[in-house]
Amino acid sequence: AKSQGRGNFQFFSAAMNVATHERLMLENRLWLALEQHEFELYLQPQVRLADQAIIGAEALLRWHHPELGLVGPDRFIPIAEESGLILPLGEWVLQQAATLLASWRARGLGHLRLAVNLSARQCHGAGLLPQLDRLLAEHGLDPALLELEITESAAMQDPERSRKLLRELRARGCKVAIDDFGTGYSSLSYLKLFEIDRIKIDRGFVKDIESDPNDAVIVAATIALAHSLGLSVVAEGVETAAQRDFLRAKQCEEGQGYLFARPMPAVQFEALLAAPAEQ
Ligand code: C2E
Ligand code: CA
Ligand code: CA
Ligand code: CA
Repeated sequence: AKSQGRGNFQFFSAAMNVATHERLMLENRLWLALEQHEFELYLQPQVRLADQAIIGAEALLRWHHPELGLVGPDRFIPIAEESGLILPLGEWVLQQAATLLASWRARGLGHLRLAVNLSARQCHGAGLLPQLDRLLAEHGLDPALLELEITESAAMQDPERSRKLLRELRARGCKVAIDDFGTGYSSLSYLKLFEIDRIKIDRGFVKDIESDPNDAVIVAATIALAHSLGLSVVAEGVETAAQRDFLRAKQCEEGQGYLFARPMPAVQFEALLAAPAEQ
């Protein structure tokens, strides 16, 4: 039993080493990746549920790693967050987003809204607002077309600071959405603390709308609560027509998910806009 225990430990330790090794490898490369232009913003359409018209997109980071290929943000955002790289990376994302909005306007796509994810560090650092002011002025952007998504858990790390930040963002005319709504915090009291425009219902609730009556009730109640507070609602992770129909019946304004489209490169998103909508 003792030697078996030891064996297990060695196995565990080897697995740990692989994880640590991958982490170190990614972390080392990550700093270079920004310089080498290995990042790309993918866009996932957001649609109006009433008619499935594309009203905008969420920007989602992708990393073209020279050996690993396309790496998703779940694998590198936590590392970037811990190592501090998230600050320059987040600035790059915002700058790309501003450039994209400006190019859309120049090409007659000036009605599209772009949502950008903010990390906790970005929200609590001092650089965000000055950068935003610079970008809005430089590109002459309509701030209402830029939506900033902040997760419930990031906002609750420092509620007072977040309250001020969200207020500043909205004072500039930008839109603010609470991301992953319902996952992070056990109390809804922050909804009266924060000035926001929109709630994004987490995929975890949408997923089981059809099979779990509790999730159906939670989603319906969340939509009703948001509306009673004057907020609009986007549902994440919509994968089936039945989920869409449920959300539509509950007056959820917008949806995002594989049913409509996966995240894709910007050129592909723009091509999709030009294509006739399928029914
Ligand atoms: P998120 O903000 O909750 O983004 C939604 C995630 O759900 C995306 O994963 C998207 O690809 C995925 N998704 C969308 N529709 C569906 C669906 O119908 N089914 C399923 N199963 N998944 C769907 P992704 O792109 O891997 O991003 C993961 C997370 O990484 C994001 O979660 C966000 O927290 C973070 N992230 C992405 N880009 C950025 C960024 O520029 N800055 C920061 N700070 N975080 C980012
Ligand atoms: Ca998001
Ligand atoms: Ca989300
Ligand atoms: Ca999420």
